[in-house]
Amino acid sequence: MMLTKSDPDEIQSFLSDASYLPGGYASRVVFPESAAQVAEILAKATHEGTLVTVSGAGTGTVAGRVPFGGYVLATDKLNQIKSLVKEEVGGKAVVGAGVRLADFQRLLEPEGLLYPPDPTERSCFLGGNIATNASGARTFKYGPTRNYVERLTIALATGEVIDLRRGELYADADGRIRITLESGRTIEARLPSYRMPQVRKHASGYYVAPGMDVLDLFIGSEGTLGVIVEAEVKLLPKPEGLLSGVVFFASNESLLAFVAEARSVSIKTRQFEHSVEAEGGNLGQSSSINARALEYFDKESLSFLKQKYEAVPAGSVGAVFFEQETTTGTEDLLMTEWLGLLERHRALADESWFATTEKDQENLREFRHQLPVLMNEWFARYKQRKVSTDMAVPDEEFAGMLSFYDDTLRATDLKYTIFGHIGDNHVHVNILPRDDTEAARAREIYMQFVRRAVKVGGTISAEHGIGKLKREYLRELYDEESLREMAALKRAFDPVGILGRGNIFSEELLS
Ligand SMILES: Cc1cc2nc3c(=O)[nH]c(=O)nc-3n(C[C@H](O)[C@H](O)[C@H](O)COP(=O)(O)OP(=O)(O)OC[C@H]3O[C@@H](n4cnc5c(N)ncnc54)[C@H](O)[C@@H]3O)c2cc1C
Repeated sequence: MMLTKSDPDEIQSFLSDASYLPGGYASRVVFPESAAQVAEILAKATHEGTLVTVSGAGTGTVAGRVPFGGYVLATDKLNQIKSLVKEEVGGKAVVGAGVRLADFQRLLEPEGLLYPPDPTERSCFLGGNIATNASGARTFKYGPTRNYVERLTIALATGEVIDLRRGELYADADGRIRITLESGRTIEARLPSYRMPQVRKHASGYYVAPGMDVLDLFIGSEGTLGVIVEAEVKLLPKPEGLLSGVVFFASNESLLAFVAEARSVSIKTRQFEHSVEAEGGNLGQSSSINARALEYFDKESLSFLKQKYEAVPAGSVGAVFFEQETTTGTEDLLMTEWLGLLERHRALADESWFATTEKDQENLREFRHQLPVLMNEWFARYKQRKVSTDMAVPDEEFAGMLSFYDDTLRATDLKYTIFGHIGDNHVHVNILPRDDTEAARAREIYMQFVRRAVKVGGTISAEHGIGKLKREYLRELYDEESLREMAALKRAFDPVGILGRGNIFSEELLS
């Protein structure tokens, strides 16, 4: 007997997510425990034309799991870790969609294994991470969730279940895909013809590339193409140690030059390591700069943080948080390399903070974590919602984009902070309105930023996805024809349009 809840008090928490979009409603929340139960719910819903919104842990920021009618299909009970295998290097695991990332990471730690995706808020589910192709700070080194997904079990809206393993099914040269189901039925679909922006991170609409692996279509599809029931994921060896720092700068030019050099040296180190591995060699842990994370704090972010951290140097106009993996053999050498890099770019090295122990690293992580906490206190005080961007641009456009953000906002009275994944040219601009007029102004400015990002070849969402909140921005990135092609692709898998209704597409594209 499948658990079903319909008491308004009991289902309330499934009607919203970290976007705080109000107004979500559903008649019930169902909690399937197997692929067969998920399939049964979906087949019935398609037959009845009932909408189904898939729910992970609700940490998404674009209202993807907020339902507007129908049922919520909660993945909470699909939470088994079915296998964990250590291999000569790293390992693999088979996990249910409802496994919580924090629990998974805790299990891997003593095994000496690492699952790289880490989208900051670790209460999320692995299924939710895959559905949004989540990334985060260490994506700079490891790439997004997509890179770690080897196999998916997916229940389609029609009630059929497919199992896709990486490397087994590809789109043809004309962008056609064919999936033969167990029943003998074949799904034929055509990939949209757009080209995705050439940026380091991208989470806007369906993943499309010539000759792509069909598995990649479902990663980042935001609950619109099928329900991810189970995944096999790839694991890496856990790094032995970590060197991290929060380094402050008195000039923005110096900060940007530091980031540019740290990025290019890190990429060169990785290319060298990969080429040695490709030839069958093993360098072990290299002693060259290879940042795992490069995260930015602008002047406004620092002034927020100063409320709690008096040690933020008075003359600093920005800071960068970095992480580098180490071993006992490389730690001292790497510290010297980083100090050299900081000196070359005139960082306020004496006033910066470094950590090599777990306890000190926790303090630096806490420093990062305090910024959203302080901002949330602000929103609570002014009873407003944050207006937060998620754009990434190509390397050569980043400095111009950052000045555009800053110049545009400085010309207003709006309060704002800019921080985030600078290694990937992906910072979040957070506008903090004090009243409804400022909120409306903030949204206008957001659109200016979207247009500029698209103009310079960037993406409008690098990690949070489109959900229900960013559809209007997706229209700036892709033309009407591309959106229609995406909707046609969805219809091939979900003919009645029951799944994730409202995510990515507006209603008229689906009807
Ligand atoms: C404080 C904070 C910081 C964050 N930082 C980052 C960050 O740095 N990087 C980043 O990428 N994200 C970040 N996020 C966003 C969030 O963590 C991710 O979007 C997360 O991966 C969503 O997982 P979830 O389980 O909470 O999914 P939910 O919010 O429940 O759902 C997200 C979407 O996926 C769909 N979905 C969920 N499960 C499935 C499934 N099994 N099958 C099909 N569709 C499904 C839902 O329908 C919805 O559209 C942050 C969020 C918070 C609150």
